Amino acid sequence: MVTRRTDDLGLTGHAETALRVIARRLRQIMSEPGDGQQRLDKIVRQISGLMVAEVCSIYFKRQDGTLELFATEGLNVDAVHATRLNRGEGLVGLAAETAAPVNVPEAQEHASFSYRPETGEEVYHSLLAVPVQRGGIVLGVIAVQNQTPRQYSDEDVEVLETTAMVVADQLVSGEVAGTGADEELGRQLSVTLAGDPISDGIALGHVVLHAPRVVVTKLLAEDVGEEGRRLDTALRELRQSIDDMMARETVSHAGAHRDVLEAYRMFADDRGWAKRIHNAILDGLTAEAAVERVHNGTRVRMLRQNDPFWRERLRDLDDLSDRLLRVLDGRMDTSRLAANMPEDAVLVARNMGPAELIDYDSSRIRALIVEDASAQSHVAIVAKALGIAAVGGIRRVVERVSSDDPIIVDGERGEVHVRPSQEVIAVYADKVKFRARRQQQYKALKDTPSVTKDGALIQLLMNAGLMVDMPHLDESGADGIGLFRTELQFMIASTFPRLEKQTATYLSILEASNGKPVVFRALDIGGDKALPYLRQPKEDNPAIGWRAVRLALDRPALLRMQIRALLRATAGRELRLMIPMVSIVEEIDAARELVRLEQKRLLDRGGEAPTNVLVGAMVEVPSILMELDALMERVDFISVGSNDLLQFLFAADRANPLVASRYDPLSVASLRALRRIRFAADKYGVPITLCGEMAANPLEAMALIGLGYRSISMAPAAIGPVKNMLLSLDSERVRSFIEKRMEPHCTGSIRDDLRRFAELNSVEI
Ligand code: PEP
Ligand code: MG
Repeated sequence: MVTRRTDDLGLTGHAETALRVIARRLRQIMSEPGDGQQRLDKIVRQISGLMVAEVCSIYFKRQDGTLELFATEGLNVDAVHATRLNRGEGLVGLAAETAAPVNVPEAQEHASFSYRPETGEEVYHSLLAVPVQRGGIVLGVIAVQNQTPRQYSDEDVEVLETTAMVVADQLVSGEVAGTGADEELGRQLSVTLAGDPISDGIALGHVVLHAPRVVVTKLLAEDVGEEGRRLDTALRELRQSIDDMMARETVSHAGAHRDVLEAYRMFADDRGWAKRIHNAILDGLTAEAAVERVHNGTRVRMLRQNDPFWRERLRDLDDLSDRLLRVLDGRMDTSRLAANMPEDAVLVARNMGPAELIDYDSSRIRALIVEDASAQSHVAIVAKALGIAAVGGIRRVVERVSSDDPIIVDGERGEVHVRPSQEVIAVYADKVKFRARRQQQYKALKDTPSVTKDGALIQLLMNAGLMVDMPHLDESGADGIGLFRTELQFMIASTFPRLEKQTATYLSILEASNGKPVVFRALDIGGDKALPYLRQPKEDNPAIGWRAVRLALDRPALLRMQIRALLRATAGRELRLMIPMVSIVEEIDAARELVRLEQKRLLDRGGEAPTNVLVGAMVEVPSILMELDALMERVDFISVGSNDLLQFLFAADRANPLVASRYDPLSVASLRALRRIRFAADKYGVPITLCGEMAANPLEAMALIGLGYRSISMAPAAIGPVKNMLLSLDSERVRSFIEKRMEPHCTGSIRDDLRRFAELNSVEI
């Protein structure tokens, strides 16, 4: 096997030579004439010779999960294409299942050993098997065997792993075509990942990584010394960038963010880590390939740890390696590929804020996949506003795709098909056609009055936030805009929009609304809605931090400028202004006072005033439920923000898929809260709307009608399906159905009951 003479660094020239010779020979084999099978035969011959192993075999995975022997040096040739190991069978199967090397000096004594007489392998004792992987998917296994029992060294493992990387590369680039392995590969690489639907729609496109992983294409160093120097420079730059980040004011105090950076720094300063990468370079790899190999090795070791601390650190290590690769690649600062984005981009991100999504050219984005996002997170809301299909809650999706992979995003079912087969593409092409037909049907309902079977008139309003939303008002047949999220305009701007700009924007929105009512919500910034130009302190819990009306009242100049712009834009019309995140009634008083001051200022200057100014409150913080009477006396209308209300009611972060779906909006607890608000509004004759995501789901909208809501506001694409539902609904029947399930001792979710109700009563949900 590869033996090494140890020098000062604990390294030898021998392994470097073995690796370099293997690389040169592999390159040569690929350039020689011959078919795929001949190439594989040559590869196993070369590797067995260079690694001084009596046997070298390559197995590729078949679609049914079996591992077929594709080439061997040393085992019986008749076994090639005849021996198929079942999933997980034998030590080779073990390497494939665990996606990790298997290294045993006495293979036949190992519990997983499986004897296949046709191979003639009984004479071999030791075995080293490593997986052939691409994009986190095991494609096959390369194994070497020796007659003498021996423990293969770490260097042997590294040499075989590097060979496996090269073989995977050749396989993917089609250079072993003709063996059937490449067609197989196409199928192997197809995976379906299940997540949560967070924005409706179906899209076929190509992967664009939001914070792209650098794909290492050049594996072998031409000048080892130069690669070592590149690594040193990059490590210095990486450490410097982390120090800079930590020195920034926003992270210089304690908090979760700082802990993450401390962990980064711990890894980045770890001399063992740097030394292992240097060692890999001395083995003949480029700095990038060395980072990747050490990363993979460390990853496997960390995954073996049961200690949750190390599992958590794994993500830091992933990020740190990505950063180092980006430094080496010279694209530290360009996390976005905007310039080279394909026309059918499917963005894939670990996490993403709404501003980051808005940063992209949305005309090129077909769909979005965000690991850490739920349907109520702001990025999902922006995706809905932009009509981008989105799926959230898929663990480690970033590691499982590569840039440019073809991909299908099913925002209806919450599924993602990576590198789909032709059959799957055909099914989805049909689905897209079907959806288009259904959209036509909804469109046909556009002018149908939204009245239930028993004559209850339901006002269907639309949520909006950008100019691009405005054409949907007519297309959807919405009665008006129940929620205009003004912050989105601020988020897409690179500097704070001044008075003139704000006035012009609001005016164009009013003009585009063609006389239909528009409810403008005052800036709801803070939380995950950060403005790039507004300095905000780093907060441990931004959702319950300095946001919305809290920020606006502390910085009244901001809110006053917005009110001024709104008063000017609505001159001669009615202004409906809604205050977000009201927790105590005094906040409404304070906001009203600012409105009064601005109205006075306008009149004092002889400006044209709106015909009427209505001030409303969002009901989305549970504390206000304890002051509903006082609130109703102070407002002209209310709108229930069920997204925030339910996250605070259940103390479940709306953006965290681990908890966001744990509590059902159709649970008795939330329905009681919603009913209580509606009772209070009715008692004081205050108009009430609900504008959270609940309104967009036909089943949940049915429950709202049952609770007495007669006005709901939703993403424009939901208006057709919700109208279709209510046309087939008897509101009185659903009301009494729900009432019976809200008796004092009732608990839990009534979702299943409501589904059965809909089915029995032919309600189209
Ligand atoms: C809500 O909280 O339900 C709401 C409509 O506001 P946003 O989603 O913008 O926080
Ligand atoms: Mg809200």
